[in-house]
Amino acid sequence: GDIDAALRMPMRPLGNTGLEVSVLGFGASPLGGAFGAINEAAGIDAVHHAFRRGINFFDTSPYYGLTKSETVLGRALRDLPRSEVVLSTKVGRYGVDPRDFDFSAARVTASVAESLERLQVPYIDIIQCHDIEFGNLDQIVQETLPALAALQSQGLVRHIGITGLPLEAFHYVLDRAPPGSVDVVLSYCHYCLNDTTLLGSLPYFRTKGVGVINASPLSMGLLTRGGPPDWHPAPPPLRSAAAAAADHAAARGWDISALGLGFSLRQPDVSSTLVGMFTREMVDENINTALRVLGSTEAAAEESQVLAEVADILAPVRNLTWPSGRPLP
Ligand code: NAD
Repeated sequence: GDIDAALRMPMRPLGNTGLEVSVLGFGASPLGGAFGAINEAAGIDAVHHAFRRGINFFDTSPYYGLTKSETVLGRALRDLPRSEVVLSTKVGRYGVDPRDFDFSAARVTASVAESLERLQVPYIDIIQCHDIEFGNLDQIVQETLPALAALQSQGLVRHIGITGLPLEAFHYVLDRAPPGSVDVVLSYCHYCLNDTTLLGSLPYFRTKGVGVINASPLSMGLLTRGGPPDWHPAPPPLRSAAAAAADHAAARGWDISALGLGFSLRQPDVSSTLVGMFTREMVDENINTALRVLGSTEAAAEESQVLAEVADILAPVRNLTWPSGRPLP
């Protein structure tokens, strides 16, 4: 067509799935209110606008807004061609309490049926075990993944993934799961300005043939002008360093979110980077960042300079994370 190649959202293959995903993916957790109450019509408009501008990958979970995110995303998806959308949701996590996890075969099987209904679709492209470190990892390997494989053979789900914070949990499961039983890993908060520990696991994921999704490039709101929500688990030194980095970037004429997202998107071994969005303006801002960093090298020198200054501010808290889930078996 006559659309300039530089203005089109780049796509990347997702591991061995055969799927092509937009480098920028739409994180739908805010559609459930994770970052504050949202206007549902504006959220649906954001989904439609994202699709029109080339985002084909949408990620949700029954946990987000305790099913609300799936319901709102489902309303938005009614107006989009199903085969042109890569839709991922999750099983196993249903609340904030450790008791709100259930990775049993019966529960995850029922969960997929419920998600299909809320999303109003006949199949899910990627079904993921949500925050595996809160579950029993041996149960994930021996019971959950086989249950999801059964749903796959029924055509209800196409590909299978695992998500979580501690990278060691992915290694534990991938070391033990039969080859081909996990197609995708969704890691979060480990490839962003303040934390790049995901790099250490990328070669391993490649040898296992799993596609890699990086979520929370803004570190769940740490790398934003407004700062993180109250529930954010970052320890205080990380919070204050991120705020100082945001202030410094602003003083240099840069938005910390644009810098941070650009940084994450430049990593070629990540297939898609999921950002939480809920308005058309946010979608435009983030797509413009994606097109800027992947479509041209202009302003690279000045940006690199500001990035280096921000890295200095974040150096004392580099790779600082927080506990999540159970200790590994
Ligand atoms: P994020 O790092 O993308 O940050 C989202 C926050 O940044 C929101 O407050 C949003 O309002 C704000 N934001 C987005 N674009 C902005 C911009 N241009 N300027 C200023 N602020 C902006 O974190 P996230 O939402 O947690 O992660 C993205 C998605 O990844 C989630 O929606 C979810 O789909 C997925 N995710 C999955 C898991 C998991 O499976 N365990 C964990 C985290 C994230």
